[in-house]
Amino acid sequence: MTDTIHPCPLCAYAASTRDGVYAHLLTSHRKSEISTVLLETRTSVVEPNPP
Ligand SMILES: [Zn+2]
Repeated sequence: MTDTIHPCPLCAYAASTRDGVYAHLLTSHRKSEISTVLLETRTSVVEPNPP
């Protein structure tokens, strides 16, 4: 039961372990890039200004 893959939230990369994705994020993506995606994701879910 080791068929689980852990996709990178920022690109098409996928690793067989969560640590693999973590290492990929640290080595292949910049902090600013990760922060931007994180903020965009959060702001798209939460709507602070209801109509
Ligand atoms: Zn990635």
